[in-house]
Amino acid sequence: MKTSLFIDGAFVAGGGEPLSVVDPATGSEIAAVNEATFEQVDAAVEAASAAFESFSRTTPSERAATLLKMADVLEANGRALAELESLDVGKPWPSAHDDEMPLIIDTFRFFAGAARTMTGPVAGEYVSGHTSMIRREAVGPVAAITPWNYPLMMAAWKIAAAIAAGCTIVLKPSEITPLSTLKVAELFAGLLPKGVFNVIHGRGPTIGDRLMNAPQIEGIAVTGSPATGMAAMRAASQQIRHVHLELGGKAPVIVFNDADVEAVAQTIRYGSFFNAGQDCAQPCRIIAQDGIYDALVAAVARQVGEIRIGAQKAEGTEMGPVVSAIQADRVAGFVDRARRTCDVVVGGERGEGRGFFYKPTVIANVDHDAEIATSEVFGPVVTISRFSDAEEALSIANAGRYGLASSVWTRDLGRAMAVTSRLRYGFTWVNTHGVATPEMPWSAMKGSGTGCDMSIHALDAYTSVRHVMIAHG
Ligand code: NAD
Repeated sequence: MKTSLFIDGAFVAGGGEPLSVVDPATGSEIAAVNEATFEQVDAAVEAASAAFESFSRTTPSERAATLLKMADVLEANGRALAELESLDVGKPWPSAHDDEMPLIIDTFRFFAGAARTMTGPVAGEYVSGHTSMIRREAVGPVAAITPWNYPLMMAAWKIAAAIAAGCTIVLKPSEITPLSTLKVAELFAGLLPKGVFNVIHGRGPTIGDRLMNAPQIEGIAVTGSPATGMAAMRAASQQIRHVHLELGGKAPVIVFNDADVEAVAQTIRYGSFFNAGQDCAQPCRIIAQDGIYDALVAAVARQVGEIRIGAQKAEGTEMGPVVSAIQADRVAGFVDRARRTCDVVVGGERGEGRGFFYKPTVIANVDHDAEIATSEVFGPVVTISRFSDAEEALSIANAGRYGLASSVWTRDLGRAMAVTSRLRYGFTWVNTHGVATPEMPWSAMKGSGTGCDMSIHALDAYTSVRHVMIAHG
């Protein structure tokens, strides 16, 4: 595959240093991709800016047709893309191919439809002798910055919504997982006018910073850590820009006494350790009511103890390595600090081999204000702590600085309604966790960000509302 940057419709080798891309299961280099230079970042922004004038005036049906073609190309190349994603991030092959690819493809099909929903309120005479109308227009060239945990999915959410809105894009994937995004550039090359979609490569504080601060950029869309979200807000504050942030999470899983223990434990097994727990919506902070706590700890420990870890394509692998040596050290640090005051019930140590494996870990007896209960670990670790009644559960869950995903487990629908209505999280599941569909927003509150990806509401990040008034004469 090409490992060049994609700028103004052309593939160009990065002019900067080669950055090593590593297979997390072995620690071996799989590719070295040259970083962009500042001049190449500027050229990509200039291309997106030049292409905006005509692309923003394409009709929704033209953009919808392009988005459908993009979906078809992704579908036809699903195996190749999943291979890269699995190799680059360390994801088990079935997760990359069977779980992630369908949603990635469907995101483009959904936004093909969404592009055609951008209608405003009816025109009217709000001042006598004058007709007013609302127009909804693309914000301008967008800087999109994506993380390493779901490189392709996060790129899909940004690209599809921005194109649907009529924006042009310069996308920078994470410097440690660029391969699937570079492949997407290759696949989309003939589908869009030159300059509409550009991909650059490089580190955050240099290349990402240059991109977010480029003068022609009008919107910044970041999926990443809170620190990068703050950098985006600082950049936006210098020139007054739209900012859309999807940042970290620390999802509470509130389990009442009447919940189905096995269903919770199975969801933890498959949901919390999916992608080795490197998931912003990971159900990681289990808060169990007193009457179910012991049974839940036992059920979760049993389920998690059975998870098989291994390389991406090894027979029976349920969970792969974490993405990097740095991430493995970070996870180990959190667990080692937690074990001084909590009980490590399962795991709590690194896996064997040269890769960046960390064993699926369950930590019980966790205080609500413990570091492990409140900070995003972003690894294969869940904690379990207690609550006594709904008020206490709500105050524990809402005290956190994050506000992304959450779930409530109870057979009492009235209680589920009451609790969900008071949770300050962008999304809440009841008796499940982690199920996503492009029609529904992946929405952030509080320290988890601003706005949402997916759903027609994602178009808000890429559009501005305008008023046009016509005097009758
Ligand atoms: P990160 O913030 O370190 O990196 C994300 C991207 O930002 C990368 O492309 C990086 O190069 C870039 N970047 C870093 N510093 C920058 C700077 N100063 N200026 C410009 N760009 C910069 O995050 P990560 O470690 O790649 O990803 C993990 C984080 O992403 C977690 O916090 C996770 O919760 C979050 N995440 C959130 C969602 C969501 O939908 N809310 C989804 C996936 C991941």
